[in-house]
Amino acid sequence: MTATIIDGKAFAETLRGRISDHVADLKRDHDITPGLAVVIVGNDPASEVYVRNKARQTEEVGMNSFKYELPATVAESELLRLIMELNIRKDVHGILVQMPVPEHIDAVKIINAIDPAKDVDMFHPQNAGKLMTGQLGPVSCTPLGCLMLLRDLHGDLSGMNAVVIGRSNLVGKPMAQLLLRDNCTVTMAHSRTRDLAEVVSRADIVIAAVGRTQMVKGDWIKKGATVIDVGINRIPAPERGEGKTRLVGDVDFSEAVEVAGAITPVPGGVGPMTIACLLANTVTTACLINNLKPPSDLTA
Ligand code: NDP
Repeated sequence: MTATIIDGKAFAETLRGRISDHVADLKRDHDITPGLAVVIVGNDPASEVYVRNKARQTEEVGMNSFKYELPATVAESELLRLIMELNIRKDVHGILVQMPVPEHIDAVKIINAIDPAKDVDMFHPQNAGKLMTGQLGPVSCTPLGCLMLLRDLHGDLSGMNAVVIGRSNLVGKPMAQLLLRDNCTVTMAHSRTRDLAEVVSRADIVIAAVGRTQMVKGDWIKKGATVIDVGINRIPAPERGEGKTRLVGDVDFSEAVEVAGAITPVPGGVGPMTIACLLANTVTTACLINNLKPPSDLTA
């Protein structure tokens, strides 16, 4: 058996098309142009590329993009001052502070300073609480993207056994909540889970969000299961030339593809969905801030 490859890149492109339409409607009908502010502290090259992509895609869907690049030495108070300014600006509907921030800055303080109404990556505990209690609000971008892919593939997820490997606030926990909300029977696995292979072998849906290169093996996976690989790991690729690298996921793709029913590749699976969902969330927050109903095809 060879699995269906879930094309996250194509899905994200379609999603961005729908976002463009919703942005055009908001401008025409309500004179609202959703605006996303992205703040980056320091000059980590990977983060810079990511932030540049976010800014470009934000503009491509017709939204306003505001980018703030602060030096690694910036004082915590200065960053907090910028967040306060963005919190009250009428043209900013989404605020994202690129993590991680340098060690001298208290990340929790930064997260808690962001207005929950503009917290497009669901860092704020208030939005985590909303997700847990079934209230409408921004949902962490990567899990939202995974859920959209799963719904597109399966339609109704009711009754499916889902195993989420990883319990981070950004990916694992919100992913589990979303799957629970969609009536899956959810197991959360982590570094202390006993016999992970056996736990995974019971899953109809496997979400791997660990950050360990090709950890999930083909013989862990139930025949026909859907595998969503969130992991992004860079490994040496001498076959591409000296010093070259390539990206791989948390799943051993070449093994898993022979067993799974469907699988996301890395790259080209979950990654492109994350930025598209950030844009979707900015439309959602722009609507909620203006007391409008967010488009149902952009929310969880
Ligand atoms: P974190 O490091 O915050 O969390 C990793 C989780 O994996 C922890 O809960 C940890 O368990 C668990 N874990 C670690 N080792 C094992 C193990 N041997 N067995 C089982 N569980 C284990 O990572 P993130 O959630 O932020 O990210 C996970 C991966 O997803 C990374 O590769 C990251 O780069 C990628 N990512 C990709 C995105 C995308 O757009 N595609 C977006 C965000 C992240 P414990 O809690 O017990 O320590």
